[in-house]
Amino acid sequence: MRILCYDESACIEWWRLRGIMENNEDKYANLDLNKVYEYVDLPDRISGRCDHCGNARFKTKVGNGQYLRKCTTCGLTKNL
Ligand SMILES: [Zn+2]
Repeated sequence: MRILCYDESACIEWWRLRGIMENNEDKYANLDLNKVYEYVDLPDRISGRCDHCGNARFKTKVGNGQYLRKCTTCGLTKNL
């Protein structure tokens, strides 16, 4: 890929953001379906969609100060 840099600081910023995105991709690529994720640790990549399968249907369970959202397709669960 060829990158055009208009000035050096913008270029450094671009690489920094790219690094952050790649780290997040790792996090989303290795999801454990038996674990309950905290939304703050793992925000929706696309709001309202499952990070694992992209499904938009969830079962929710509220109680004990938690709001659990479980994907109906793959079972990925998050505490919102
Ligand atoms: Zn899912």
